[in-house]
Amino acid sequence: MNAEIISVGTEILMGNIVNTNATYLAQECAKLGLFVYHQVVVGDNEERLTQVMEQALSRSDVILLTGGLGPTEDDLTKEVAAKVAGKLLKRDERTKERIKSYFKARGVKEITQNNWKQAEIIEDAIVLDNDNGTAPGFIVETSDNKRIVLLPGPPMEMNPMFQEKVIPYLKKLQPDVLVTRMVKICGMGESAVETKIKDLIQQQTNPTIATYAKLGEVHLRVTASAKNEDAAKKLLKPVVKELKNRFDNKIYTTEEEVSLESCVLKLLVKNELSLVTAESCTGGLLAGSIVNVPGASEAFKEGFITYSNKAKRKFLDVNKSTLKKYGAVSEKTAKEMARGAAIGSDADISIAITGVAGPDGGTEEKPIGLVYIGCYIKEKTIVKEYRFNGSREKIRQQAVIAALDLLRR
Ligand code: ATP
Ligand code: MG
Repeated sequence: MNAEIISVGTEILMGNIVNTNATYLAQECAKLGLFVYHQVVVGDNEERLTQVMEQALSRSDVILLTGGLGPTEDDLTKEVAAKVAGKLLKRDERTKERIKSYFKARGVKEITQNNWKQAEIIEDAIVLDNDNGTAPGFIVETSDNKRIVLLPGPPMEMNPMFQEKVIPYLKKLQPDVLVTRMVKICGMGESAVETKIKDLIQQQTNPTIATYAKLGEVHLRVTASAKNEDAAKKLLKPVVKELKNRFDNKIYTTEEEVSLESCVLKLLVKNELSLVTAESCTGGLLAGSIVNVPGASEAFKEGFITYSNKAKRKFLDVNKSTLKKYGAVSEKTAKEMARGAAIGSDADISIAITGVAGPDGGTEEKPIGLVYIGCYIKEKTIVKEYRFNGSREKIRQQAVIAALDLLRR
């Protein structure tokens, strides 16, 4: 079964708001195994909306529309959908009562006349009560077995309605069970990952492999569908195994909910190792991401933010001569930072980051994005050099990811 997402609203078309609804729905469809072949954005215009809906009905099984269900003149999605599906609109007392009590609960005494437009429902449609607003949503089943799903524009109303009311409906339409694994890769770019599995992507039918590039990571969603969970898992197994063969220790997890930082912490706890961080250009970002994981205290002991040279000397015992000769952003400084942090705090492992985050301060010798990460373990210190691209924020985030990746190995 395939789906099409239509986002209705002139403000989306003009770029005034970001189309998060389409992103959300596309991701949810992927989880349901519904293939999204088209996404369309259309303004609040009757003629063009009609055209877009007719086109969608001619090529898609399920059409998901968001926006234009509210009380104002420019809200016309419901009217157009009814017309295109050959259905009438009728006043619904139950919906009217629900809207009344929605306003009453919020202390609104005067309900303006235009609100009653929202009490009109499409005949024979499934009405999706809106628990977070006034306008109801609808599922319209057309004579040629297509489904038009109408959802409100505000994400706060749309998301719960989709989760609670539309997903159960779509699951019934699509009875196969889907099982997914999220193969998470760190330390490789998206194109390198794709090149390595080009053949698998080309062959894919069931399971399917979808790649998602994130900053510093690439995730592969592998999805299998079958009559039951065991059969789907059986289909997944050889593909996940093949991916593990190809990417080896670049894969840090195959579980959706496991993050890089939680994976690092788990390893530390398992091996009963304590960790300390020493950060310059990331200014606590690494420590923050580790502490975000519940139970971090089992391994994480302390973190130094040593931004100035003075602080590097005072707290991490970095040599004055090192800073003078090699500078704060250097292999030698990273090494001494890592060593100083571990020894000063009596931790088993320490990780130190120093780099040029920009946007100012880059030189030919030490360009923006140059980062050194030092790791001290068992009286040995290793330092790796990185050259990241992007804004200050992106460089700092990539440094954190690289540090976590280094800790994992
Ligand atoms: P309302 O009852 O608020 O009028 P509606 O169903 O008529 O809701 P719209 O009028 O089209 O929806 O949009 C209302 C608001 O919802 C927009 O101003 C915007 O904040 C948000 N919104 C609409 N469409 C999207 C979208 N595709 N992505 C993200 N937000 C959206
Ligand atoms: Mg509106």
